[in-house]
Amino acid sequence: LTGFAADLGGTKIAAARIHAGEVAERLIAPTDPAADPDAQLVVIKGLLDLLGHDSGAPLGVAVAGRVDAEGMWHAVNRGTLHAIGDFSLRDGLSRHLGPATSLNDAAAAALAEGLFGAGTDSAGFAFITVSTGVGGGLVIGNRLLSSGNGLAGHVGFVSSRFASGPCGSGRMATVESIAGGRGIAAAAAAAGYEGRDARAVFDAAAEGQDWAGRIVDSSAHAMASLIGDLTTILGLDTVAIGGSIGLAPGYIDRIRLALTEEPELFRPRVVAARLGHDAPLIGALAAHLNKER
Ligand code: ADP
Repeated sequence: LTGFAADLGGTKIAAARIHAGEVAERLIAPTDPAADPDAQLVVIKGLLDLLGHDSGAPLGVAVAGRVDAEGMWHAVNRGTLHAIGDFSLRDGLSRHLGPATSLNDAAAAALAEGLFGAGTDSAGFAFITVSTGVGGGLVIGNRLLSSGNGLAGHVGFVSSRFASGPCGSGRMATVESIAGGRGIAAAAAAAGYEGRDARAVFDAAAEGQDWAGRIVDSSAHAMASLIGDLTTILGLDTVAIGGSIGLAPGYIDRIRLALTEEPELFRPRVVAARLGHDAPLIGALAAHLNKER
């Protein structure tokens, strides 16, 4: 696995030179969420140029948002990158950088974890990231599950009996709306703790404050129920959890505890993701090289 990769997120843009499956060099720039897609690609090109990329070298690009089979890029959550509109990422990349493969960042991370990280021994694998929102990807028989509209794997938008509020997807009462950072902050405000973000809620829970412990537990229960549902559909044996909330101390243990309420058949192994910030980069390049083969 050798080539180049970029990862365009809501807060930062990363670009990397990858050698033999490892990130050899990485550069980071802040994302301007108001910039149009062409301007974002110019930033990516600037970083890749510094890393020695030239047109024609293998390149995978992971992005926040949904990328369909025609390479069109759509904002799923208008709160993250509101200037995307519906843009041909395939044409844009080819204009600025040459041939490249683009896909959703969580899907890319799932592919990397499935092939080289927490899911190497798995035949039915899901990666779920819990951060500002909840995203993911599904790797079944070592292949990333993808769909023409690019929606496959957006597991945060599954309904949850633990939720009741609105979700950035436009759906109601989703896993993301209760388990993600935005949902946790909204639950804190509703409990009378206005202005607390997810990190503050986790800190309060660690200090033994009941209101906060209940909110973190609802998040973990929604995740356990989602894992049970996905296992029903896909026969998962392993689920890796990532993201700033997913990897917060004690969170995976809370998911495992909540999962004991499910019958054994619906309880896959739940483990921490292993590749961290490298995952979307490595997965994007892997997706590109898989496509070329
Ligand atoms: P992102 O991962 O989306 O780039 P951040 O890591 O800054 O951005 O934060 C995403 C979400 O994770 C926020 O809701 C934030 O409050 C929460 N968060 C960050 N660090 C922690 C932590 N140590 N414990 C719990 N929640 C955290």
